Amino acid sequence: FKSANDCHGHRIGDLLLIEVTERLKQSFPSDIVLRLGGDEFIILMLNEDEKDALPKLKHFLSNLTKTISIQDIDFSIKGSIGLTQYPKDGDSVDELLRKADIAMYEAKHSRTDIVVFSSTLDEQQKFKNTLETELATALENDEFFLVYQPQINATTGKIKGLETLIRWDNKKLGLVAPDQFISTAEATGHIIDIGQFVLNQSLKEISDFCIKLEKATELSCLDKEEVNLSVNISVQQLFHDDFVQMMSRYAHDQTPDNIRLTVEITESLFIDDLEKAKSILSELRNQGILISLDDFGTGYSSLSSINQLPIDELKVDKSFISDIDHYSQDLSLVQSIISIGKSLSIPVVAEGVETEEQAAILSENHCDSFQGYLFSKPLKIDELLEFVKNYNKKANLQYFSSNF
Ligand code: C2E
Ligand code: MG
Ligand code: MG
Repeated sequence: FKSANDCHGHRIGDLLLIEVTERLKQSFPSDIVLRLGGDEFIILMLNEDEKDALPKLKHFLSNLTKTISIQDIDFSIKGSIGLTQYPKDGDSVDELLRKADIAMYEAKHSRTDIVVFSSTLDEQQKFKNTLETELATALENDEFFLVYQPQINATTGKIKGLETLIRWDNKKLGLVAPDQFISTAEATGHIIDIGQFVLNQSLKEISDFCIKLEKATELSCLDKEEVNLSVNISVQQLFHDDFVQMMSRYAHDQTPDNIRLTVEITESLFIDDLEKAKSILSELRNQGILISLDDFGTGYSSLSSINQLPIDELKVDKSFISDIDHYSQDLSLVQSIISIGKSLSIPVVAEGVETEEQAAILSENHCDSFQGYLFSKPLKIDELLEFVKNYNKKANLQYFSSNF
């Protein structure tokens, strides 16, 4: 409706609404149809339960999608419906409308055109609202902290790098997983400041960690003399105006020589602007920052686009690893990803390695490194120091050599 107004003017938009109203009247001759505003309508069905209402609503939607021609312009309209019932869902108009709205938004954002309101939906919405409100002040209230997960070289068994993962501890919501709040932080723009916090804090903590390590002469369990520090970067951050400048400042002023920064990006960046991504990633590379493609295999990248971008590492998504020892299809996929890596000379890291069987299969298939609970869960900085100090290289090296 909005695009009809924008492209063809309000007069055409009005005619379109009149036609939609006609179709509503045809489909619901004995019900009350009201226009709420804009392109939103209320259908008040009397004495009907969900079972009777749904077929009528479905029939209406299929009628609505039939092409509408106005002054030789063809429109194709789609509708989303949220359904609430009196008295089950509420006994006031406000309450019923509020809940119908929640169900309607869910219908808009999911693949189903009609969503029946449920209390779970209400709880999800309330959680979302609280999350959004709390997220706005989380940084100033010092509610975020970082954990680090070691990545292990599959050949030597030594620590190849660390991935920084954010954690949020909120007084109302408790510990909230990043999968639950990163997308909200992206949608609200908070991800820019949160991302900066992650970079600042992890560089500070890991610089300090390196100093402590050198003192304890424990550096030998590291793969190289430098620590590879990987940080997850959202597309919004990457495409933000000062990102490259900010990163070059980090690389020069705040990164000691023994820390190598890697940014982990996801394939969603390919649907935005490949050319822009290419130039940003190349500039980062020029600053000595490495680029890792996270959750590889789950998104939108094509082989040709990978080849065009400066990529230093592919991370196989953990969803492919979890059943690698049971599902031959998952194994074939992982084998293909490893061979893509080999043919482009890009090392491959497997995420979510939880069992010895998975590690053994990945080793046999020449996967370059592992990350997962088998080696370590993500650790707070103090725990990481303990982990590294106690890292039993001998045992691990034995395990690795026995698998070759
Ligand atoms: P990711 O970057 O793919 O991180 C790997 C996720 O797998 C982490 O979840 C990690 O805790 C989990 N994981 C590691 N090993 C295992 C394992 O053996 N088994 C299982 N089941 N899981 C394992 P986490 O920490 O919950 O993070 C989820 C996602 O949130 C991350 O996926 C990343 O996309 C995003 N994220 C985390 N921290 C940040 C951040 O600082 N900035 C941004 N933009 N995104 C972040
Ligand atoms: Mg990652
Ligand atoms: Mg990942």
